Amino acid sequence: MINASDLVRDEVHELAPYNSGLTVREVNERYGPAKIAKLASNENPLGPSPDLDSITMADSDLLRLYPDPAGVELREAIAVALDVASTQIILGNGSEELISIICRAVLRPRDRVVTLYPSFPLHEDYAALMGASVERVNVKGNMSVDVDTFEKKIATPARMVIFSNPMNPVGSWLAPAELSRVIAAADKNTLIVVDEAYAEYAAGEDYVSAIDLLKGSRRPWVVLRTMSKAYGLAGLRIGYGVVADPEFRSLLDRVRTPFNVNAIAQVSAVKALADRQHLQRVVTLAASERQRVQAFLLANDWPVAASKGNFLFFDCAGNAADFAEGLLRYGVIVKPWKQAGYETFVRVSVGSPDENNQFMSAVLSLTSQDVSHSSAIADG
Ligand SMILES: *Cc1c(COP(=O)(O)O)cnc(C)c1O
Repeated sequence: MINASDLVRDEVHELAPYNSGLTVREVNERYGPAKIAKLASNENPLGPSPDLDSITMADSDLLRLYPDPAGVELREAIAVALDVASTQIILGNGSEELISIICRAVLRPRDRVVTLYPSFPLHEDYAALMGASVERVNVKGNMSVDVDTFEKKIATPARMVIFSNPMNPVGSWLAPAELSRVIAAADKNTLIVVDEAYAEYAAGEDYVSAIDLLKGSRRPWVVLRTMSKAYGLAGLRIGYGVVADPEFRSLLDRVRTPFNVNAIAQVSAVKALADRQHLQRVVTLAASERQRVQAFLLANDWPVAASKGNFLFFDCAGNAADFAEGLLRYGVIVKPWKQAGYETFVRVSVGSPDENNQFMSAVLSLTSQDVSHSSAIADG
């Protein structure tokens, strides 16, 4: 027997397994529901732009040849769309990989990293893996960002500040003035990483991308975006980062594997980015359905955080893992939160109208069952 436990670094033992939830196949095997509403990973119910149908893998060199290691065409398309230089763009095998690349490139043991909490666990995990010490800024009681505490924490220089805006899992966000305050409060040598996985959903009133605030500033920063959410390409694994300057980007670039973004992902992302109409359909549907599901949760007397993402975070007033397990029997997959202090919270993605209906009726079946169950106990 090998002694794997001694073989790996101490930091690896500290990491919790990623809470990715059950796959459709696992739910089918366990419960065999008539249909499944997968609302645990914030995927897009409309999928990608129909323009992707014209990509034919077999007929071209997409599969036979290595992809462009520099991703030139895609980086240029992104640069034009965001009005930055293509030399500022780095591509990742999902934006997750970019979080890992940044942490590996920048963090030394015992470095201070500040993040918001509850958080996207990978913001903490990759930092912890490098031996950094992570400090969290908890949301306020109403689930909004505690900007005052955040400012205080980063007034002491940290190597890196990393957070998502809108926040995942919470959905709440830093308004333009709040984001400006946070950027101003961070030491000029602190790397600011803003993960904007849901920026396309949030765009509009009361939201500004950090790209607009940081562009042209002389401090280190990276803004992360993904094609997995509003562009509906989670299965292809592609994300990108906008980096403060070309020199920093090329140093980060050395840390990635040379062919990290596959050829199909690259051509698909170019097509997806060009279809503004499809994006608008996705965002409009998510906004109206989010409102409908939010009203339902509030009617159940469950506190729900305000959200600009395609998901809602609510307190189910009981053990979230049991709640989520109960919903599986109705074919509904949600994500029970597992971070300390939030074990009664559930994150549910906003799906198609049908999927959301399935979620709501499953919740009603579950809660009415609970009521009859507990009254039976009370009676007996
Ligand atoms: C979904 C999500 C990601 C992951 O994006 P990929 O590009 O699929 O790796 C990154 N950050 C946050 C906050 C997310 O919610």
